[in-house]
Amino acid sequence: MSPHAIYLEACRHIPGGVNSPVRSFRAVNGYPVPIERAAGCRLWDVEGRCYLDLVMGWGSMILGHAHPRVLDRLRSALSRGWNFGALTGEEVELARLLCGSVKNLEKVRLVNSGTEAVMSAVRLARAFTGRNMIVKFDGCYHGHSDGFLVGAGSGAGFLSVPCSKGVTENQVSETLLVPYNDVEGLEEVFRERGEEIAAIVVEPVAGNMGVVPPLEGFLSSARDLCDKYGSLLIFDEVITGFRFLFGSVQELFGVEADLVCLGKAMSGGLPLAAFGGRCEIMEGLSPLGDVYQAGTMAGNLLAVTAGIATLEELEEMNPYPQLENNGRILEKGISEAAEEAGLPVKVNRFGSMLSIFFTDKDVRDLEGAKGSNSGMYTTFFHEMLKRGVYLPPSPLESWFLSASHGQSEVEEV
Ligand code: PLP
Repeated sequence: MSPHAIYLEACRHIPGGVNSPVRSFRAVNGYPVPIERAAGCRLWDVEGRCYLDLVMGWGSMILGHAHPRVLDRLRSALSRGWNFGALTGEEVELARLLCGSVKNLEKVRLVNSGTEAVMSAVRLARAFTGRNMIVKFDGCYHGHSDGFLVGAGSGAGFLSVPCSKGVTENQVSETLLVPYNDVEGLEEVFRERGEEIAAIVVEPVAGNMGVVPPLEGFLSSARDLCDKYGSLLIFDEVITGFRFLFGSVQELFGVEADLVCLGKAMSGGLPLAAFGGRCEIMEGLSPLGDVYQAGTMAGNLLAVTAGIATLEELEEMNPYPQLENNGRILEKGISEAAEEAGLPVKVNRFGSMLSIFFTDKDVRDLEGAKGSNSGMYTTFFHEMLKRGVYLPPSPLESWFLSASHGQSEVEEV
């Protein structure tokens, strides 16, 4: 079947032809490229065309596709069966690895997706504090659970409105929205509602409005406010965990979190995520405590095996200096090319994640990100695709490098 025939057939059986909306290429006025296989930093479509991949499973393939160590471990795990719905030694091994490498992770629970990790961490925070309100930043994405599907706050102070049909105003009425990097806004919301706030949830480096790093003092102010008002600080590190160093960005920014959510890089690309924190909080979870959280597939042997193999490889090979260096080369190359072409482009980069905004203004929040020229990104995206570079099919997504991108591939881009 041709790529277009596959897509048309997909549309007959799957809403919009895809299992996650951004894959539809609608944000760039295009059609998805059905992929046949992947290895290292390359993808091949169903017609055998090769692309240099800068999506990398949306950040989950930090070692590269079909990494030999992960593949071997998965192959040998497979023959044992893969979902026992019972405790395994591998779950213990992965939990020990995570607790040994992520600061403030005294206990951890494994789940299947980042959505579940954040949703469960929030439930735990509400139970621990006995409060209901959650502070979220505009432009941060924490998965598709109801309470997090809130759009930009309207004129009505910090009140949130759902950004998805099917989510009721009630379901988001306990989510307070503040612009990213807005310390004053955060202080104000705490002055008004501090005693009701269970937790702040934040992407410590935002990656879902393009890359927006935290400004100096933003994360530490969040920590200070949580301390002052007795709220918890939840770092959603589904993207950032194990991406910039072997562990959590708490150590990069010198800011401690009460609960940390992990996914993507630690998952090895299988459905695996985690949330954890101090014992006193985590022991609120059933069966020890009264906070219910569960999963038929949680901790299944295949996903956990991919996670362990990935973490072991990351720890041994330490790809982080290479990832940083390649990120820097890519940023410099794009900025120089844009300058040569006389185009207004801002490159936001943090380590091995990067995004480009067609604007001459610095981008520090969602409003700034939305102010960039998405039509220009669309043109750029399709021209890059024609030249064999597979970028995120949306101007508001991050590009990800992996350990399998060498300097020559980055220069190729
Ligand atoms: N949190 C962040 C920061 C994310 O980027 C994502 C997904 O992109 C999620 C949570 C949700 O993770 P999942 O798609 O695995 O449910």
